[in-house]
Amino acid sequence: MNKVNEHIYLDNAATTRLDEDVLQAMMPYLTSHYGNPSSIHHLGRETRIAVEEARKKIASLLSVKPNSLLFTSGGTESNNMAIRTALKDFGCDHIITSKIEHHAVLHTVEYYEAELGIGVSYVKLYEDGSIDQNSFRRLLEMKSAQGKKCLVSLMHANNETGQFTEIRWISSLCKKYGAIFHSDCVQTIGHYPLNLSSEGMHMASASAHKFHGPKGVGFLYVHEDLHPSPLIYGGGQERGYRAGTENVAGIVGMAEALHLSYKNYAADQQHIAGLKQYMATFLKTHFPDCSINTGRFSLYSLLSVAFPKNEATEMLLMELDQKGICASGGSACSGGGSHVMKELGRTDQYVTIRFSLSKYNTKEEVDQTIETLQQILLQEKNLLKTN
Ligand code: PLP
Repeated sequence: MNKVNEHIYLDNAATTRLDEDVLQAMMPYLTSHYGNPSSIHHLGRETRIAVEEARKKIASLLSVKPNSLLFTSGGTESNNMAIRTALKDFGCDHIITSKIEHHAVLHTVEYYEAELGIGVSYVKLYEDGSIDQNSFRRLLEMKSAQGKKCLVSLMHANNETGQFTEIRWISSLCKKYGAIFHSDCVQTIGHYPLNLSSEGMHMASASAHKFHGPKGVGFLYVHEDLHPSPLIYGGGQERGYRAGTENVAGIVGMAEALHLSYKNYAADQQHIAGLKQYMATFLKTHFPDCSINTGRFSLYSLLSVAFPKNEATEMLLMELDQKGICASGGSACSGGGSHVMKELGRTDQYVTIRFSLSKYNTKEEVDQTIETLQQILLQEKNLLKTN
């Protein structure tokens, strides 16, 4: 059941509820095991072991070497670090990205463009947010012919539409043209079994709170042949790549959350995908005016729905909230309208609601959400008629 305080929580792309077993795994490191992992006494050694065991656990789940994982404060820091190190340490002098990346990528790219004069190219997108592969190939070819070394930063799955990027294909092109490939995998790591070594990217970002782990912890995968310089300077933690006393409880919780998500992947995926399909079918049948933004090649947990903008739908999100249903209009971090929907040409005529599901959601909750949507829209329609 996902009814904490009688709320129906359908905003799991923004963050997820902490798994009870994850909390239990973290508890000793929030209470009795409080040593600093850099201390050499037994309390310190105990937490050092916990951090390194967590690293090994995550590395094994993602089929990478433990020393290729750098613990960070989450997706935002990982994305910042990836872009900075590609420009500073890996020789990149041009960035290729898309206009629908998370702001943690977009604003970082804009910063380096403005501050350092780094050239930026944006890939051409189709209406569903997928990449125009031919134009991407031509762009990479052209930049490489101009003697540019590109950083390609493209997210694995979009957090607003759910649309996937074919990272294996991008990886192979990047290899061909000597580009560095970073992928923001915040919406996919912990949701899909991934072998990061064979996906072929050089760097990948992840965040624990997206897969029922704690907030404020994540990691950046950096291929073991690459040596990043720190984003944060200070002590020698994370082999000097990321200073600051480790978030021991968070790191232990993240490893446990990843372990649980992959252990129960098949059943959870089937359950969530079933709810999404059920909800999509119902919406299409009962709200013929709405359209589904989420394409076929998309996250199994995310359903983005566009309602034609009118007086009945304009306040929909707020009205759902008043009735205890938490959904969102897009990214939780992008107040003031969605840059993704704007880029895909949806802003003015549509009201977009993103429903994102988790293992804790139930069919009853989906039924209740649909019923509430019907009530709100019908009631508004009647009000409009009488006015
Ligand atoms: N990238 C994507 C695709 C996201 O969805 C998010 C979170 O909303 C982030 C990055 C930022 O992650 P964090 O909240 O861990 O900083």
